[in-house]
Amino acid sequence: MYNAFYAGFIDMQPIEAHKPDLTPAIDLTDEQKLQARQQCFYGCVFCGSPVFRYYFQPDSAAAVLICHLHAKQLRTTLLSPSTLLERIRQPFNQQRINKPGFSFDPNRRVQVSVGMNTVYADFVADSEEQYCIWVNGQEFFTLHAESGWLCFSFSLSDNTGQPLIRVERGELIQSPEQWDYTYEINTLKIRDLQRRLQFTAQLCNDRVLLTKGNFIDSFGDGFVVEGNRVIAMLDGQKGGQYMHRIEPGRYKGGWALFNKIRHPELVMPGNFAFVCAAKRKYSGSER
Ligand SMILES: [Zn+2]
Repeated sequence: MYNAFYAGFIDMQPIEAHKPDLTPAIDLTDEQKLQARQQCFYGCVFCGSPVFRYYFQPDSAAAVLICHLHAKQLRTTLLSPSTLLERIRQPFNQQRINKPGFSFDPNRRVQVSVGMNTVYADFVADSEEQYCIWVNGQEFFTLHAESGWLCFSFSLSDNTGQPLIRVERGELIQSPEQWDYTYEINTLKIRDLQRRLQFTAQLCNDRVLLTKGNFIDSFGDGFVVEGNRVIAMLDGQKGGQYMHRIEPGRYKGGWALFNKIRHPELVMPGNFAFVCAAKRKYSGSER
């Protein structure tokens, strides 16, 4: 269902310019991707960004993780190929292993905040997931614990529910061309062509703090996160606001929106801290 939803948009991803020094690694197996993530410590080798693409290392079949910004700098020769080789030997996230990065302490909870609302995620096993935003069966923001590191999957939409960005385990699969990605002081910011912020999230080893983004499906159901506020949307209309701080508890999920009218067959995975369920009647309809 997840893939089918996006199938029509795969072709929208920008084609990277070919340069001998920087070739997108598009046909990697899941195993090769996992290996590259581990070797690069789950981030861009230059800045540690948890959103990246896979490229072939110069003169090698192995892949390296490079974010949108640094791929651009390599192509425009703001960064030299020798700096790339240096960074492959010593990825940014390896150097900051004792500072906030993505390597998390399994004995400590990861704080997950969406707007003012907070849950705490416990990752006990080596490979686990926490659904942060879930709408009608579709995951919009998911945390994965993988070999002791955190990585992120998310889908961002515009305010009508058209998908704009898709990130899977850190890999930028779909994005409008020319959008701007920065990762500074643990904060990922995505800006559109007009330089307006479309996404802001602090992503580090003990805290995930989401303060900006539209997470809406093609029917207009979902959540809009705007600073402190989390606004639930149903059929494209504002359904209610969520501003609660809850006691730490064991939840396998954060924010779920569940439109029982449109999806009577759906079963929610896990145990969500916040659930918004649609019970509104369609006007003039007995459905
Ligand atoms: Zn980077």
